[in-house]
Order: sequence, then structure tokens, then C-alpha cells
Amino acid sequence: MIRVFKFGGALLNDAKGIERMVSIVEEFKCEPLIVVVSAIGKTTNALENLLSLAVNKDEKLATEYFSLKSFHINLIQSLPFVNHTKLIDEVENLFRNLWDALNQPFDNYFAGYDAIVSFGEILSGKIMAARLSAKKLIVAELPAEKIIATNSNHTDASVNWQQTEKNISTHLIPLLHNGKIVITQGFIGSDNDGNITTLGREGSDYTAAIIGSILNANEIVIWKDVPGLMSADPKLFKDAVKLNNISYHEAIELTFYGASVIHPKTIQPLQKKGLTLQVRSFWEPHAAPSLISENRSEDDKIPKIIAKPNQTLLSFSSRNMDFIEEENLFHIFKALSRHKIHINLMQNSAVSFSVCFDQNQKKQKALVNELSNMFFIKYNSGLTLLTFRYYNNEILKQFTDKKKVLLVQKNRTTAQFLGFFDLSN
Ligand code: ASP
Ligand code: MG
Repeated sequence: MIRVFKFGGALLNDAKGIERMVSIVEEFKCEPLIVVVSAIGKTTNALENLLSLAVNKDEKLATEYFSLKSFHINLIQSLPFVNHTKLIDEVENLFRNLWDALNQPFDNYFAGYDAIVSFGEILSGKIMAARLSAKKLIVAELPAEKIIATNSNHTDASVNWQQTEKNISTHLIPLLHNGKIVITQGFIGSDNDGNITTLGREGSDYTAAIIGSILNANEIVIWKDVPGLMSADPKLFKDAVKLNNISYHEAIELTFYGASVIHPKTIQPLQKKGLTLQVRSFWEPHAAPSLISENRSEDDKIPKIIAKPNQTLLSFSSRNMDFIEEENLFHIFKALSRHKIHINLMQNSAVSFSVCFDQNQKKQKALVNELSNMFFIKYNSGLTLLTFRYYNNEILKQFTDKKKVLLVQKNRTTAQFLGFFDLSN
């Protein structure tokens, strides 16, 4: 029975979470097991912040760098049984490399992003491997860049499946044959030239699916801090219910609209092989999981709400009251793609075109710079995109009535509202 377990960074944020991960791994230690980890807590955000401070030559860089370093060192010191001196030495070395990377010129911003942001997973992998080894588990650390082969589309790289399969049989399978528990990093890959790439934010789930599907794993489990897959974020919506069984199709729809519980690319490789994905509770490991599989089930039709906060809406209108037609749209789409802006929602009228995307000032500025000679551009930020699957009028009314809504789109199964929603109650 081959298992692939993915542990998200939010679970590994403190000693209590790490000990829970250790106990889950221990339970399955006698059979082939691959553990995929992501960066601890909010490390990836912190690294993105370091990168932007470095690019802007901001003097806060050093302080923020030391604070991320202390966070990791303090965490190590709180872990029982590990050889603290040795592990801290290794982690300090990694931080020195990070510092060097931050102080290099950024000839290619996106390549620089991957080189820096990937430190989160590398640190986490090292710390988790040390903690598991201290428990006398026979662990092998396998750097993800040795197995996950990608193209060079930095920050959102595509997998080179053939090469990845080869790498898995050369580097990973022998470790499993030797009875090792393999620990690797999510989110990271490398291109043909050996440069580090990343698979897109929250991409560790995808790593687990890539490895699981190539190995035809019997169990692929994403461990979460919620009871399983939920109909809405239980922190925001008190009526959220657990989904016991949903189809690949419904899961893809949910992730497409921004359900952050699993990365959107995760499902496709599993669907190709007909493998079931399990989403299990980290805190109740023996409770029934949510299953995502081929089967269509009643749970597909349960109303679901997905909230995507921090959205920006940009509206383009032509400078001479031209219609917005293919030629204009072509320029807009090209610029969006060049600046790696992913569209969450779009709409057009005769003379204007609107797109909604995740707030990102740097990208937005670059886009506006490029297109402002062709279009009048207006924007709103601080918006939330609410998506309702299998909605009914009552639900729509409950959440959107009397709210400031800027844009609505509906079809038979899905309704989307972009506007200002206070979800804190
Ligand atoms: N650490 C990465 C991120 O926060 C990848 C992941 O968590 O899956 O985006
Ligand atoms: Mg994460």
C-alpha cells in the first residue's frame, strides 16, 4: 500500500502541530510513505515580502529577514529530541544562502522569485525530516527539484511528466524499496537547466498529486485543519457542512472559483488515473475523510460558498469611444498574460471591459503602465468575489442583499458577486 501524505504549513506552525504530524507518520511507518510538506505557517508570504523589500532596496529588509530566521530557530528549539545544535547550524546555513539570494541583482524577477520563495519549503523539509529521524524513523530527504521536472515558466511552471516519471523511478522508488519514509517539499520543481521553479501559490497539493499519480498510490491524503472538504469556510460561514463525497468535476469547479482547500491543478492527474483524493482532519485522524473521486454524488448538489477576498477590478474603456472588440481585447489579454495576471472574472459591455484578479500592486502598475495610452483605466480594490455553487435565491439574498455589488454573473449552477462583503459575522 503506497501512501502520499501532504501536510500544509498551517499545521506545522508549532511544536504541537509537528508532534501531531509525527504521530500520523508513525502510524503508517511500515509501508511505503511519501511525505510532502509545505512552508511553515506564513513563511511563503514572509519570503514574498523579503523579495519585494530587496527589490526596492528597502532598509527594513534585514529586520524582516532576522525575524523570519528567529521564527524558525525558535520553532526548532521548541521541538523535543532533535539535535538542536546540528539542525540550527543547517538552518543558519540555509538562511545565509537566502541572504545571498536576496542581495543578488534581479535580472529575471520571476526566476529570482522562485529562487527565494522556495526557501520556505526547503527549511520546512529539513526541520520535519530532522524531527522524524529523531523519532528513530528511517527517513530520506529527497529534494523536490530532483524529481519534479518543469518548464521554465517561473512562478507557475508546468510539469514535464515524462522527465518527472523518470526522476521518480531513478531517485524515489529505490528509497521506498530500501524501506525509507521519503520526505520531500511541495511547490518546488526545477527546469531543464536546473533552475528552481515553483508550481504556483499553494501548489504543494499539486506536488502530492503528481507523485501520487505517477506511483499509482493507494492513498493520497491532504491533511487539513478542518474536518474535511467543507461547503464553505467554517471560519466565515457558520452553516458550513462537511462534504463526504464529491466528484472530480465538482472539485475542479470549486477550486477554479477559489476554494482554497486544494490547489486547482491537484485533481487533473488523479482523474486521469482514477485515483481517489482524501481530505482528512489533522486533529481527528480517524474520522471519515472527504473523498474526491469519479463518483457523482448527492454532495455535489449541496449549496457551496467560496469567498475570495482581496480582489481588484480593473475596467478598460477605449479612449475614443471605440467598441471593445477583438483587436482591443487582444492587447488586453496579451498584457495580462505577460504580467502573469490570472483572471478570476471578466465582463464586457459595448465600450468597456472589466477584469477581476487577486490584488497585486506591482503587477497592476505594470499592466496599467503598458495599457494606459490605449485605454482609460479605472479600478476598485479591496473587493471580495463570492461564488455560490448550486445556489438558491434564499442564500443569495442572505449574503448579497443590501451589499455594494459591482458585478454579477450567473448561470444555472453558479452565481458570482463581486463587491464589498463583510464576512466577519
Ligand atoms: N508554501 C506555498 C504557498 O504558501 C505552497 C503551499 O503552501 O502549498 O503558496
Ligand atoms: Mg500553504
